[in-house]
Amino acid sequence: MKLILLGAPGAGKGTVAKMLTDVDGSVQISTGDILRGAVAAGTDLGKKAKAFMDAGDLVPDDLIMGIMEERLQEADCANGFLLDGFPRTIPQAEALKALLARLGIELDMAVNLEVPREVILDRLTTRRTCTGCGAIYNVKSKPTKVEGVCDECGAAVVQRDDETEEAISNRLDVYNEKTAPLVDYYRKEGKLIDINATSSDVVVQTIKDNLPG
Ligand code: AMP
Repeated sequence: MKLILLGAPGAGKGTVAKMLTDVDGSVQISTGDILRGAVAAGTDLGKKAKAFMDAGDLVPDDLIMGIMEERLQEADCANGFLLDGFPRTIPQAEALKALLARLGIELDMAVNLEVPREVILDRLTTRRTCTGCGAIYNVKSKPTKVEGVCDECGAAVVQRDDETEEAISNRLDVYNEKTAPLVDYYRKEGKLIDINATSSDVVVQTIKDNLPG
């Protein structure tokens, strides 16, 4: 499947993407994970992105499009992909449209994960992320077996630098201003489905039920 997952930070895009990779071998592509990897490795990209990320601001479109042009042409994307956290702006969506047309790829749909703001705030402040494999935990609803250690890969599980209250509030404002307009963009393209995303299991089932073919 070839999907875009839209939704505010904390709407469950990463969790749903990970669940969907098991359905048909489509790969999760999270620009946030790619950027965090670059920051941890101290690459040029990571150095350019870090200050934007820590403040909860968006990384400039040209850096993101550079990443995605390469990533979408890698062999593992042939089975399909789940775009998690990309596109985030109208210019990114336009650039993605041109890129997919050039590569001869058609999107199945864009999924809008809708979650009430108070649920989002609660999820983000209690979320913990593995620094190794990106697995997502929650101190209340899905704790690690051993505190601070990933069940899957054994790496450290931490609160992200951009999950302070200030950065979270900025990320939600940035989402409303820059990313929420993509919902109408994909609705006009005839690609959008809206899903009440309080339960990830329900989201995954609804996506499976709506896949074309
Ligand atoms: P995420 O893990 O998707 O919440 O992304 C974490 C941070 O990475 C965001 O707050 C942005 O600073 C940056 N980022 C991730 N994806 C994008 C994107 N498509 N465009 C711009 N910045 C991004």
